[in-house]
Amino acid sequence: MRIVLVGPPGAGKGTQAAFLAKNLSIPHISTGDLFRANISQGTELGKQAKSYMDAGNLVPDEVTIAMARDRMSRPDAEKGFLLDGFPRNVSQAEALDKALAADGVKLDAVLDLEIPEDEVVRRIAGRRICRNDSAHVFHVANQPPKTEGVCDICGGELYQRDDDSEETVRRRLEVYHTQTEPIIDHYKAQGLVVTISALGTVTEVTDRAMEALRSDEAA
Ligand SMILES: [Zn+2]
Repeated sequence: MRIVLVGPPGAGKGTQAAFLAKNLSIPHISTGDLFRANISQGTELGKQAKSYMDAGNLVPDEVTIAMARDRMSRPDAEKGFLLDGFPRNVSQAEALDKALAADGVKLDAVLDLEIPEDEVVRRIAGRRICRNDSAHVFHVANQPPKTEGVCDICGGELYQRDDDSEETVRRRLEVYHTQTEPIIDHYKAQGLVVTISALGTVTEVTDRAMEALRSDEAA
């Protein structure tokens, strides 16, 4: 199956992508990993991406698309792949359509993780991270530490990252609405969109997604 996963920040997209790719035995292709891999291996595309990033600029769509296309052409992606974080705007989606058509393949589904905006804010703005180790993560409502502001694991001070403030989250959601959400209409016109709720536990959402993809495939 060739799948694109879309959803706002805070919908648990990365986590779901990893589980779904494993369940479907297809590679999970995320733009973050693509950038890291190309840069660390010193590929031509990696060098280009790095020069933009070092200058504090966004990596142009052509570079991102070329990296994704290179990754999708590897043997392990022959039977399918799950794209996460790409395409993130309509022009990338159009470029992806062209690249796939040139390779004689097409997408099977665009899985859209839906979540109310207030829930996104609650999930992200409630996060507290330990100053000693960023892997020590708590949540004021879902997973509160035994003592407020203190890490259960090492006793370190818990804090809220700037990226997790309500103001930043609302700004990221706005960017998602204006730039990424239009790709859902783009793919709806192709009859590819499968929408599921991203509420509930990680397992519940994975099960819901698998079920929706199966019935979509059968339809
Ligand atoms: Zn800690």
